[in-house]
Amino acid sequence: VLAVDALCKRFGPDLEVLSAVTLSVSRGESVAVIGANGSGKSTLLRCCVRLIEPSAGRVRILDTDVTAARRRVLRRVRQRVGFVFQRHNLVPRLSVLSNVIHGAMGRTGALAWHQGAASPAMRGEAMHCLERVGLAELARRRADQLSGGQSQRVAIARALMQRPEVVLADEPVASLDPSAGAEVMDLFARLMRDEAVTVVFTTHNLEHARQHAGRVVALRGGRVSFDLETARVPFDALGDLYAR
Ligand code: ATP
Ligand code: MG
Repeated sequence: VLAVDALCKRFGPDLEVLSAVTLSVSRGESVAVIGANGSGKSTLLRCCVRLIEPSAGRVRILDTDVTAARRRVLRRVRQRVGFVFQRHNLVPRLSVLSNVIHGAMGRTGALAWHQGAASPAMRGEAMHCLERVGLAELARRRADQLSGGQSQRVAIARALMQRPEVVLADEPVASLDPSAGAEVMDLFARLMRDEAVTVVFTTHNLEHARQHAGRVVALRGGRVSFDLETARVPFDALGDLYAR
């Protein structure tokens, strides 16, 4: 589903952030990407859909060569790939429901993302997505009046609404306290598993990697340090990965 081949990213002449990263993810897998601050995790995820332009190498997603794709093809691929960020990127002045409906925009090609302009079927579907993250009663609330944990749940509901085949999640619960983080991470992993979505998520929380990933890819200085089934990862001896 996702194949990253010898991906390089340089910022200017001196800073090479990704050095020939190669990685492949099969349908239905859940892969955690770990590594110290600045090891290149976010850059890797962003390069996959060209939110950042790679300097060299190839990325294929769902049988499309993303690196060679023109605008129109790229747009179509992005409709099939959900993104969840550390900070949820909700539209603050819109209602929770409108934000979730927004998730269907790419899927349907519709520009009507205000609640009033959405079809009853779409509103119903958005409500259902909110029910699944346990927030149906907050549908009418403005997005900027939510707590961090609630916002992150809405971002997950929005991703569900998009019905993506692949989800790339960059530290999806990093802004939450440990207990809310664990809860939202559980919810995220369960919903993605129910939908058989392929997931790649980055995290600093090794417990989340251990619990929710089938495989762990570790980056160190922009290179893959290891790529192992979760059961074989030496979680208690990862000092090197985080050493300065
Ligand atoms: P963290 O755990 O802190 O989120 P990360 O593994 O996600 O770190 P990246 O955000 O991918 O790391 O950053 C990798 C390196 O690339 C860092 O040294 C960062 O300063 C650098 N970098 C990222 N974006 C840019 C940019 N637009 N211009 C220049 N350097 C950048
Ligand atoms: Mg990052």
